[in-house]
Amino acid sequence: MNKFAFVDCTTVDEALGQLGDGATVKAGGIDLLDLMKDEIVSPSKLVNIRNVESLRGITSGKDGLHLGPLSTLSEIANHPEIQKSYTALADAAGHAATPQVRNMATLGGNIMQRPRCWYFRSNDFNCKKKSGSSDDCHAHAGENQYHAIMNNGTCAMVHPSSAAVPLIAMNAQVELTSKRGKRTVATSDFYVPPEKDLLNETVVQPGELITGIFVPAPELGTRSAYQKYGEKESFDWPLADAGVVLVMDGARCRKASIVLGVAAPTPIRSTSAEAILTGKTIDESTARAAASAAMQGATPLSQNGFKMQLFQTAIYRTVLLAAGQMPRDPSSIG
Ligand SMILES: Cc1cc2nc3c(=O)[nH]c(=O)nc-3n(C[C@H](O)[C@H](O)[C@H](O)COP(=O)(O)OP(=O)(O)OC[C@H]3O[C@@H](n4cnc5c(N)ncnc54)[C@H](O)[C@@H]3O)c2cc1C
Ligand code: SF4
Repeated sequence: MNKFAFVDCTTVDEALGQLGDGATVKAGGIDLLDLMKDEIVSPSKLVNIRNVESLRGITSGKDGLHLGPLSTLSEIANHPEIQKSYTALADAAGHAATPQVRNMATLGGNIMQRPRCWYFRSNDFNCKKKSGSSDDCHAHAGENQYHAIMNNGTCAMVHPSSAAVPLIAMNAQVELTSKRGKRTVATSDFYVPPEKDLLNETVVQPGELITGIFVPAPELGTRSAYQKYGEKESFDWPLADAGVVLVMDGARCRKASIVLGVAAPTPIRSTSAEAILTGKTIDESTARAAASAAMQGATPLSQNGFKMQLFQTAIYRTVLLAAGQMPRDPSSIG
């Protein structure tokens, strides 16, 4: 690991003043320290924001849910109002990683974590994404069982954030603050595909800090669910996860929002699956049709065709769970 300066900040202004020239924000430090130990990133200065009190706190009001970026995954998972009215978010936070990691991991850091692609994480490989140039994507011809099954032509990484999946399904917004002022970005526009920017996964610019995440209040009749499937019961990222938000009118679905995590380099909404459910009664057959529509156009790689079936199961079960027609699937993980 390189030598670096460590600056403890207690206000947003202080943190903004320290950013720039090789400095990196440190929240819980779980992903950042891994990347530094593996020498994938070598910041000259860590700007520690964990003691910035104004970035903490969860408040739920009539307009919606205001989350400080330092809210931990445990705090989100255990918050009674989030469990009741923003269930998919509580479930995604509560089934990420492990209890110890969830106690330390912050929401801001979670949505900003870097790709899990093993070629990206290994110092022995350079690749298109790391160099930003025309180097190879080793996943295309190499070990690709955990990689993207959609939009994978340029770089086949998947974005690992579980929390981003329900946040996008719930039309959440991210507040970004820099010395130039504040701007608000819809979570649906927060992630940038590799075709647009090879080096960065999000729209966050150098010198910008996530200072808030806002989830609009759910419409009357809204129900949501999230499920995650993977190789291990715990201590692991998903191989397939789905977030579903339904606005129900009795058994009929008035609006649907379906987001897939780890299917593509960014979390993606499946508008074709949503179209299948909208205006219909939710039952096993509509849920199955939506799951199969979501896989249209998928381009699995040599070793990850199994993710097609896994995603269809995840979507089918998460739709039924959101509609209140199935208990949480005990074979999902977390
Ligand atoms: C064994 C294991 C299993 C895991 N499983 C899952 C899983 O299933 N699902 C899942 O989603 N995650 C999983 N994780 C990842 C974990 O949740 C993330 O590493 C963690 O949430 C990162 O949060 P942090 O606060 O530690 O961020 P840090 O490591 O401090 O920061 C991560 C990145 O975010 C940037 N950053 C942090 N806060 C801000 C801010 N406010 N503004 C701007 N930039 C910021 C940092 O500069 C850095 O680039 C797992 C981790 C482990 C170790
Ligand atoms: S998937 Fe992306 S990060 Fe992984 S080797 Fe290919 S270009 Fe690099």
